[in-house]
Amino acid sequence: MVHDRLAPDSLPPVARSRRSRQTRRPLSRRVVAITGGARGLGLAMAEAISARGAHVALGDLDADLAAAEAAKLPSGAIGLSLDVTDPRSFKTFIETVEERLGPVDALVNNAGIMVCEPFLDEPESLTRRQIEINVHGVITGMRLVIPGMQRRRTGHVINIASAAGKVGVAGEAVYVATKHAVVGLSEAVRYELLGTGVELSVVMPGLANTELASGMSAGRGVKLVEPEEVAAAVVGTLEQPRFEVYVPGSLGPLFRFAAVLPRSARDLMNRMFQTDQIATKVDKTARAMYAARASSGMPPVDPPPPPSDPEQRVMETEAS
Ligand code: NAD
Repeated sequence: MVHDRLAPDSLPPVARSRRSRQTRRPLSRRVVAITGGARGLGLAMAEAISARGAHVALGDLDADLAAAEAAKLPSGAIGLSLDVTDPRSFKTFIETVEERLGPVDALVNNAGIMVCEPFLDEPESLTRRQIEINVHGVITGMRLVIPGMQRRRTGHVINIASAAGKVGVAGEAVYVATKHAVVGLSEAVRYELLGTGVELSVVMPGLANTELASGMSAGRGVKLVEPEEVAAAVVGTLEQPRFEVYVPGSLGPLFRFAAVLPRSARDLMNRMFQTDQIATKVDKTARAMYAARASSGMPPVDPPPPPSDPEQRVMETEAS
């Protein structure tokens, strides 16, 4: 398994000995709900988790695809319609999972979209949609499942953030903001859950080989993460809970090292590894299909009014 290669070897010695003392929690017969599970990372997670004997529910905007993919999985997997931006849809999804499979032991808040546009050019409707799916969807999911988990004194929520939840990446500013929000939200809620029996984890993959990353490249000398690596890390986290999970694991020490460097050295690293080009040099043709899917079904939103000219304002004030 890729996960066995990544962890615990990639952990520092103290964390390694702490984790090795933890008892492994088998996934067999646990009920795991995955949002955005019809394709990409969510589907890879569903395959890996159900291979361990868990009962998996895939929720997705694309309900037909979710049902078709679930039908290929073992252990009685189900695929259901879900729009994480609609609290009623999310509630119905969780209720249906509980009726058909039993209480949700784990929720993976995975559904997300990414828009690659310079900050000032991104349409307002896409800005709002990213915040609705990537942040509000995660909040809604947590509020729906945590009360039941607290009553049962057991459960696990895994929020899929991104490496973009720890660093800034030009060309995807609002996406970066949503992923920083998920990291901060997870850290704060984790403190509220300490001692309740409910685990919370945040998973932060680097750029991964799914449709979401089409037309993008990971940077000089950096490989795209394969969905199976992310899935293996999620399986490992469900079996041996920990809070922060980077994929690949080497990103954690790298980010901690970069965080103590002066800003000028970080800017230099950014240029050296060409991470400044990840979302600014994008092949828009290769990305067109993903961009159309990610933005489909959006209501139009008026852009904010342009800022008024300060000189004009002074003249108006003087005239009145
Ligand atoms: P993907 O586009 O391949 O799959 C995402 C799935 O989410 C799709 O099936 C889509 O239909 C579904 N979805 C979108 N909006 C939804 C909604 N409102 N309600 C329910 N389902 C919805 O993307 P992916 O690469 O698998 O990304 C999954 C998660 O991983 C996202 O949160 C993303 O931000 C995060 N992530 C991705 C990468 C990457 O490079 N691929 C890297 C780090 C983090």
